[in-house]
Amino acid sequence: MSHLQTEGSQRLYEAASQLMPGGVNSPVRAFRAVGGTPLFISRAKGSHLFDVDGNEYIDYVSSWGAVILGHADDAINLAISEAAQGGTSFGASHEGELKLATEVVKRMPGVEMVRFVNSGTEASLAALRLARAATGRTKIVKFEGCYHGAVDALLSKSGSGVATLDVPDSAGVPTESIQSTITAPFNNSAAIEEIFNHHGKDIAALIVEPVAGNMGVVLPDQGFLPFLREITSQYGAILIMDEVMTGFRVSIGGASQVHNIIGDLVTMGKIIGGGLPVGAYGGKKELMELVAPVGPVYQAGTLSGNPLAMAAGYAALSHLTQTQYVQLENRGARLQSGLQNALLKHNRRAQVQRSGSMISVFFNPNPVTDFSSAQQSDKALFASVFHNLLAKGVYLPPSALEAWFLNCSHSEDDIERTIVAFEESLEEAQN
Ligand SMILES: *Cc1c(COP(=O)(O)O)cnc(C)c1O
Repeated sequence: MSHLQTEGSQRLYEAASQLMPGGVNSPVRAFRAVGGTPLFISRAKGSHLFDVDGNEYIDYVSSWGAVILGHADDAINLAISEAAQGGTSFGASHEGELKLATEVVKRMPGVEMVRFVNSGTEASLAALRLARAATGRTKIVKFEGCYHGAVDALLSKSGSGVATLDVPDSAGVPTESIQSTITAPFNNSAAIEEIFNHHGKDIAALIVEPVAGNMGVVLPDQGFLPFLREITSQYGAILIMDEVMTGFRVSIGGASQVHNIIGDLVTMGKIIGGGLPVGAYGGKKELMELVAPVGPVYQAGTLSGNPLAMAAGYAALSHLTQTQYVQLENRGARLQSGLQNALLKHNRRAQVQRSGSMISVFFNPNPVTDFSSAQQSDKALFASVFHNLLAKGVYLPPSALEAWFLNCSHSEDDIERTIVAFEESLEEAQN
């Protein structure tokens, strides 16, 4: 087994750990789920990452999906530097906001009006507030294993069974904050029906990742999203499509477009910032006009609509045409079949689940349809394969339950090399 030189990363990690909790600014980066020292990246270009020790990797994190054209894309970099020449922040309106809003409204089904914020977390927070204001109700329904940002009211999971009380997922989240949150298993229409039968008149919103990507890639069963659309409409609850990950990734619009479902509100993030911090929420005009200054729902941000971020997002979206999505689909399909063949050859029963350029391997004999089946995956085997791949120059998300992301810069050669490295990594895996 080849061995990675990581002295530089180790030294920086030790220093960083003294100054930032776990040495990181977002927990999964710390490699806790796979062990070992997190890598310090010095630069990235296209589909490749370079660490401070001079190692090069084919990158399947793609900044957790935010990067879709490829790292350090020339068009995006040019847009950012041109914007920077004109001033990095005005705290006043500018045309860049209008340009990005036009692209978003053109592409995302159900979005007639949009408000830009700075992260997906902020978008979720604002969408919940708006849904509660619009309905005059309090309760929120979410799915186990779906992630909508580090929002108190959404950091909860259910105990066993639908009727049990929710418990917070994080210390510091008061029980009161999640008292109004009801959690159901993904793909379980019967559970949703039961929840609406009991609480329908009190439910402000149901929030869903239309293709779940934060427990690995879990596709909605046939009929699941239409059922959510129908039952929320029937009870007058707001359907929030969380397209922060899937928006502009699984298709030119997002999962709403692929699955032909129109949410009342849509949250966005990641790709719309072109690699800079942006989030957004949008929907029908009547609903969005409840937001201040037109309506009574307060929501604001000093740096919202930031000129650099708007320019980067606009450059990203305007370069994404059908051609790019066809290529992403083809490369994704090739990676999927290559990984499946490697698994078969080594007698590993596993699931390779994919939606467009989002893909994940679950070391699980059965198809993964929800959070409990995702959790049955062999995490020790993943950790072993992860480190074997890293030593061969392939950088996966450092957790068994995260999606891998292709970007438009992944070449056929990257994909073929990844498949070979994966096969060797399986062969070397101990468990
Ligand atoms: C990443 C993500 C978020 C949170 O976005 P941040 O920008 O990290 O705050 C919310 N929802 C989904 C589906 C995500 O993938």
